[in-house]
Amino acid sequence: MVITDTVFLLRSLVVRESAVLLFCSVRGMWQSRGGSIKWRWKFSLGDKHGTRSCGPNTVWFGMFLCSSSMAGQGFFKDIIDGEVFKYYADGEWKVSTSGKSVGIINPSTLKTQYKVQACTQEEVNKAVESAQAAQKLWAKTPLWKRAEALHRFAGILKDQKNPIAECLVKEIAKPQKDAVTEVVRSGDLISYSAEEGIRILAEGKFLVSDSFPGNGRNKYCLASKIPLGVVLAIPPFNYPVNLAVSKIAPALIAGNALILKPPTQGAVSCLHMVHCLHMAGFPKGLVAAITGKGSEIGDLMTMHPGINCISFTGGDTGISISRKAGMIPLQMELGGKDCCLVLEDADLELAANNVIKGGYSYSGQRCTAVKVICVMESVAEELVTKIVEKMSKLKVGMPEDNCDITPVVSQSSANFIQGLVEDAQTKGAKFHQEWKREGNLIWPVLIDHVTPDMRIAWEEPFGPVIPVIRIKTVEEGIHHCNANNFALQGCVFTKDINKAILISDAMESGTIQINAAPARGPDHFPFQGLRDSGIGSQGITNSIHMMTKTKSTVINLPSESYTMG
Ligand code: NAP
Repeated sequence: MVITDTVFLLRSLVVRESAVLLFCSVRGMWQSRGGSIKWRWKFSLGDKHGTRSCGPNTVWFGMFLCSSSMAGQGFFKDIIDGEVFKYYADGEWKVSTSGKSVGIINPSTLKTQYKVQACTQEEVNKAVESAQAAQKLWAKTPLWKRAEALHRFAGILKDQKNPIAECLVKEIAKPQKDAVTEVVRSGDLISYSAEEGIRILAEGKFLVSDSFPGNGRNKYCLASKIPLGVVLAIPPFNYPVNLAVSKIAPALIAGNALILKPPTQGAVSCLHMVHCLHMAGFPKGLVAAITGKGSEIGDLMTMHPGINCISFTGGDTGISISRKAGMIPLQMELGGKDCCLVLEDADLELAANNVIKGGYSYSGQRCTAVKVICVMESVAEELVTKIVEKMSKLKVGMPEDNCDITPVVSQSSANFIQGLVEDAQTKGAKFHQEWKREGNLIWPVLIDHVTPDMRIAWEEPFGPVIPVIRIKTVEEGIHHCNANNFALQGCVFTKDINKAILISDAMESGTIQINAAPARGPDHFPFQGLRDSGIGSQGITNSIHMMTKTKSTVINLPSESYTMG
């Protein structure tokens, strides 16, 4: 049955099967065949003609790509040299003198998708020097002008959401819709930081001396916030754009310069984001994006004497960085093992929905994913049944098709997850689904009757795998949460708000959510981990404070002075 017949002139259409870029005239129609709807189309390119058909997701993905410029093309053409993306320093896109590149593997195809420059020590040094010089002028730029530049950056970033999302889909297998959301959320974060910076940095403090014993009122202290200098930002792979701008925007509004070390998986998304910043017209040298493997250039950057602050998000690497870094402020947002505590009086439907959203979205590759469920024995069966039923509806597949569960970021990550699962299997845990893995794609599993001798009870899988510990008392659950080295977030499900507050106080983690899954955001909320989960606190307001220092000027009067005295 012909549903509709339309003529499209597509500038380009990426077809999943062939991944061929076509500049052609396409005439097609929607057809329903054997119960599934297909887009059947004829193309002509010069003297070549043909007929093909594909599913709606492929058509939507193709149209989404056509709706703006594509990665490394059009608006972004200056950021690539042949097949290798350039690095950014001194306000220019450059090719590294190393002559080497780092390959980025597409988690879905396991093939090299992109290449970035492997920058040298000399290039790091030069970028830091330029940043130091540019920062001096930036600090003298009026606050409202800094805010204006950030607003321009936010606008351009949002305009370019599609090509950037395309990179996120290809280099970290983020479902396409979530990839677009990440870019838009990042634009909002930049604008909010500009506004928040205006309010915070416009205010200082005025103190008088006679409140401290032994002093008269002959000293006036004017305290204000000053920038730190050059901030080094190191985001992780899972939110490469959002967690980069959550460092860039507070640093810049506060008058700092910034060096970005993008994660290898996610580097190309970061470079596209940085091009938006470049086009917004920030001074030359103020921001640099230096690419290369963290294991090779990481120490060089984190121990560089020209770096005045490190804002890092990632795994245990952050612990070793904090041991090596000099006497500079550190903001460390590290791993988590967020515990979901479900009480007897909980709304189990609500709890199950939150486990699905909070535990399995982006295949569990979120710092604040639900990573262990501690449920009271009396309601465990009912909760588990609800979760299993909802899990059966999760779509497993490719990010281009907007599946709920997409391939995890790397083969080593998939192997690590498999190791945790096998350990639980041999130690007698009960699996509600069959273990299934194809390449980096792992089908979601709920692992029940987990005991403390199993690695999965304590370690962070960063995959679609959630352990369930059945507990006899609430104290047992609280103890499990507090005995872990990770202490990022946690959540408690109960209808009794008084109990919830007491449990929140007893759970020693950076944030406890009551009746909702752990989450980072809204982005202006304070966000922090205790123990091995971090140093300092993020969130827009806290990051601006963290990336400044207080400076005082004291006016010494020749004699005491009292107003109205
Ligand atoms: P990761 O392996 O620790 O890498 C994080 C960043 O550090 C990457 O940019 C990486 O670059 C870089 N790096 C690696 N070695 C380095 C070194 N020696 N010196 C300096 N930088 C170095 O973490 P990931 O696998 O990307 O992310 C997953 C982890 O991040 C999970 O543990 C997750 O819980 C955590 N996370 C925490 C938060 C939070 O806010 N608490 C948010 C998101 C994720 P390369 O990619 O080039 O190696």
